[in-house]
Amino acid sequence: MLNFNLSDEHQSVQKMVKDFVDKEINPYIREWDEKGHFENSILTRLADLGLMGVCIPEAYGGSGMDYNTLAIVCEELERGDTAFRTAVSVHTGLNSLTLLQWGTEAQKQKYLVPQAKGEKVGAFGLTEPNAGSDVAAMQTSAVLDGDHYILNGQKTWISLCDVADHFLVFAYTDKSKKHHGISAFIVERTMPGFSSRAIKGKLGIRAGNTGELFFDNVRVPKDNLLGQEGEGFKIAMSALDNGRFTVAAGAVGQIRACIEESVKYCHERKTFGKEIGKHQLVQQMIAKMEAGYQMSRLLVFSAGCLKNEGKRNTRETSLAKWQACDFANEAANDAVQIHGAYGFSNEYPVERFLRNSKAPVIYEGTREIHTVMQAEYLLGYREDKPLSNPLPSWPFEQKETVQS
Ligand SMILES: Cc1cc2nc3c(=O)[nH]c(=O)nc-3n(C[C@H](O)[C@H](O)[C@H](O)COP(=O)(O)OP(=O)(O)OC[C@H]3O[C@@H](n4cnc5c(N)ncnc54)[C@H](O)[C@@H]3O)c2cc1C
Repeated sequence: MLNFNLSDEHQSVQKMVKDFVDKEINPYIREWDEKGHFENSILTRLADLGLMGVCIPEAYGGSGMDYNTLAIVCEELERGDTAFRTAVSVHTGLNSLTLLQWGTEAQKQKYLVPQAKGEKVGAFGLTEPNAGSDVAAMQTSAVLDGDHYILNGQKTWISLCDVADHFLVFAYTDKSKKHHGISAFIVERTMPGFSSRAIKGKLGIRAGNTGELFFDNVRVPKDNLLGQEGEGFKIAMSALDNGRFTVAAGAVGQIRACIEESVKYCHERKTFGKEIGKHQLVQQMIAKMEAGYQMSRLLVFSAGCLKNEGKRNTRETSLAKWQACDFANEAANDAVQIHGAYGFSNEYPVERFLRNSKAPVIYEGTREIHTVMQAEYLLGYREDKPLSNPLPSWPFEQKETVQS
């Protein structure tokens, strides 16, 4: 049974994050974006507010809130800037929830607990220079040597590359088995042979940190293998079910920011003796934003309800991610149009929204990959089986305790 009513708890989290964004991000974001500066202290503040482990059970150091609370947090953060929503997406969506789903108890205690408390930051290294949509084209290798794996290779376009303490890294343990030869590892920044480098000259998310990871004979203890050897591809795809959910939710916030700025400007700017909001063609752009906002929000919450119930949601999350990101990109384009020439300058935030809204159409499955996925489900070429170890359904059981 789907229920999209925001509870009192949802509403109070929403207000808390909105106030935080209005006070601690919006006044500074233009400068951070212009300088290409990632403001690390925002993550510390998010941790203080309990937002680095939103739907991680309290038993593992999280806030124990439901999956739709994570969506609300992402919506509000991206209303400020995509950079900080992206940080939560990789830290919680791609990394922490994957540890919750696949980690051993020892891995959860060592890595998930400090991440959920926001004491450590997690990130996700899947993409390589020659392997984006085509994950199996990856070249990073992991060779077993006694009680360690030796990792060699390179990842690129990794969010929080210079910031994160722990990375989920995917590498071939047996290339001959293709998808079934990929394994997942927890790699610490401090492991000798690991290094990172930020990418300069990005179109958008300039207030974010994105770049390359290098592995030069990095010795990773066997205990840091996540799941079994050969389960890496499955683990990566399950991680993306959660990451994509947060990206979709963030896109909802991006649309809302476009609506807020555009409505304000429609009342301020006059042409031909009236507010531009009185012109029907401008109204059409505003109306499309609202339709995109409402449809995306419904798709996100509907996927969130499936997550709360512990049900597989790959198909629904893919649809939400595809549609919400496309709507956000269109809304940002229209927001610039509504602002006329002023929209073309950083005097107004809408040019940043347009630049930022492009990456989510590319990452965590491009628009084309999601289009193909949706067609394949309908045509019967793709089918989701229930997962053997799904995420815990919400409310979480309180049986384990944090050891710290
Ligand atoms: C800002 C940013 C942050 C990112 N953060 C991360 C991160 O934290 N971790 C991480 O692992 N990765 C990250 N990425 C990488 C991202 O996930 C990849 O860029 C994405 O998966 C696409 O891969 P690609 O860039 O290699 O494009 P390609 O896969 O080379 O695709 C190129 C074009 O071909 C199309 N195409 C490819 N295959 C098909 C097909 N079968 N059918 C139809 N069209 C197809 C694509 O849609 C696209 O238009 C990030 C990217 C960006 C821009």
